[in-house]
Amino acid sequence: MTKMRKVAIYGKGGIGKSTTTQNTVAGLAEMGKKVMVVGCDPKADSTRLLLGGLSQKTVLDTLREEGEDVELEDIIKEGYSATRCVESGGPEPGVGCAGRGIITSVNMLEQLGAYDEEWDLDYVFYDVLGDVVCGGFAMPIRDGKAEEIYIVVSGEMMAMYAANNICKGILKYADAGGVRLGGLICNSRKVDNEKEMISELARQLGTQMIHFVPRDNMVQRAEINRKTVIDFDPVHPQADEYRTLAKKIDDNDMFIIPKPLEIDELEKLLIEFGIAN
Ligand code: ADP
Ligand code: MG
Repeated sequence: MTKMRKVAIYGKGGIGKSTTTQNTVAGLAEMGKKVMVVGCDPKADSTRLLLGGLSQKTVLDTLREEGEDVELEDIIKEGYSATRCVESGGPEPGVGCAGRGIITSVNMLEQLGAYDEEWDLDYVFYDVLGDVVCGGFAMPIRDGKAEEIYIVVSGEMMAMYAANNICKGILKYADAGGVRLGGLICNSRKVDNEKEMISELARQLGTQMIHFVPRDNMVQRAEINRKTVIDFDPVHPQADEYRTLAKKIDDNDMFIIPKPLEIDELEKLLIEFGIAN
């Protein structure tokens, strides 16, 4: 059997991590890959499109209610094309560290054998909240739970700033945990020269822009129907964008330790591509 690939998706809040993850996972599932998705965001919306809106009880809620008597079936639900879906959940808002939820959940999944060979997983995807690579949120890359990182970014300054910060986090743990950057996924916000700018950002970081995902209202239309685009409208061009991204990830062999930019280098990029053109 092939080795399970451990992927984490990072990026600024609202950039499209959960949407891109689920749509891409649908593409991988369509290719016949067995995938588990672990939502690492207290919002617990990382698997909604794969589950068709089924309410997934989070690992933390299950632990709170069932105590130690948790079974794998309690926390993993089967979604689109036999994808395995987990939501870590989090503490009540304002109480406790949300990052803890990830640590607890991943440990619980390991204990219960969710990654065991019997499941024949090709991939696990961690959809991780936020851009601050600290505490619990750094856990997937710090402890080797994720080996390959993709950063969702757009041509907006804060998204690029966040991507650069995440690269600093990867750099910090690259030696100890062996984590590598697999590329930037540009999720378009229709910023001027966005494709060229993100390609150049990727180049300067030492990585690649693995795919440019256009902005398309079909994404929202599918989302309202609680589905990925591939599931909702398989012949739509946007479905092919996600299929292409899935294929590129499956074929990817460029895994590097990123070289984060200095702030003035980042600003120079924005000025050159954004304002000067
Ligand atoms: P995150 O998980 O990074 O916080 P989400 O995946 O929840 O972000 O995305 C935020 C919103 O952006 C969602 O409502 C989603 O429908 C929308 N969105 C994401 N990607 C696209 C896209 N390529 N085209 C149109 N809308 C998108
Ligand atoms: Mg999300």
